[in-house]
Amino acid sequence: MAETIATRFMIISDTHNFQFGNAEKWQGAFRQPVPKVDVLLHAGDLTQRGGLEAYRGVLNMLSGIDAELKLVIAGNHDLSLDGYFWKQRWTCGGDDPEHIAEHDNAMEIFKGPLAKEAGVTYLEEGLNTFALKNGAKFTIYTSPYQPEFCGWAFPYERNEDRFNLQHHSAPGVTSIATNPIPDFPSVDIMMTHGPPKGILDQVIFRNEEVGCESLLRAVSRARPRLYCFGHIHEAYGAKIITWKDDKNLIGAEAIENESSQLNGYPDSSNWPISCGKETLMVNAAIMNVRYKPANSPWLVDLDLPRAT
Ligand code: 5GP
Ligand code: MN
Ligand code: MN
Ligand code: MN
Repeated sequence: MAETIATRFMIISDTHNFQFGNAEKWQGAFRQPVPKVDVLLHAGDLTQRGGLEAYRGVLNMLSGIDAELKLVIAGNHDLSLDGYFWKQRWTCGGDDPEHIAEHDNAMEIFKGPLAKEAGVTYLEEGLNTFALKNGAKFTIYTSPYQPEFCGWAFPYERNEDRFNLQHHSAPGVTSIATNPIPDFPSVDIMMTHGPPKGILDQVIFRNEEVGCESLLRAVSRARPRLYCFGHIHEAYGAKIITWKDDKNLIGAEAIENESSQLNGYPDSSNWPISCGKETLMVNAAIMNVRYKPANSPWLVDLDLPRAT
């Protein structure tokens, strides 16, 4: 019996209120019919600024995708999904009880019957393991947080490290990790809203690389098969990173080499990933910098461990 099972993923991010079949809006590269897959991954920025109607719209859009499992995280635009931010930082609603209640109502939408009907599993920060009908299983680390930029939701400061314990943090950076990302081989897939530093994270302005150093350090330790994210729309793309053999190296030092991959959508791509040696990195931002749905979803066949 083969040790791994090929599993089809569709990876998207930054759909920002996108709806299928909305003739008034530019449909771009992400339109129906989308091929049936085993697992859908959405890396956040579901909406433009949150709101209960917008969240219901997101579930409506996701219900139009045929997948056994649909794993979804929030991003900095999904304001009221961040309870701390919504109640403590986004003060424009004041003490209005309706404003305060929006967080709980948002969570009810994403964790209650509406999400269930759409087949959506909403994930917060942490590790989860899923088993699929094809006999595969995988452990995924997810986090909606990204480096603070312009005062939106799910922020952390660049001198704070949510993902590594102190001895794995960069000099001058303080670990605030209560749930650090474990070392290889505990994580098969990572999904965060923002990219790691230096990988599919260049903004147009001065070609600056704005990804997170702590995430780069964490992914170099975890060496998952797949790491998907979005947030930096203009850095949409995929790369296979090859890691050096020495698993004590961390961050950029651990990278041996990288190769860019093209999107074959609507055909699926099968890039054999050597477990522990390579990671497939995917920036799946559907919207371009002008918030137009210009980019295609990624369809990837990934070999996953067999559930025992
Ligand atoms: P969003 O507002 O959808 O989260 O991000 C949209 C765009 O804002 C990105 O495509 C990128 O151009 C810009 N952006 C987001 N985060 C950062 C950041 O940390 N630094 C810089 N310079 N630009 C960012
Ligand atoms: Mn976005
Ligand atoms: Mn974003
Ligand atoms: Mn170590």
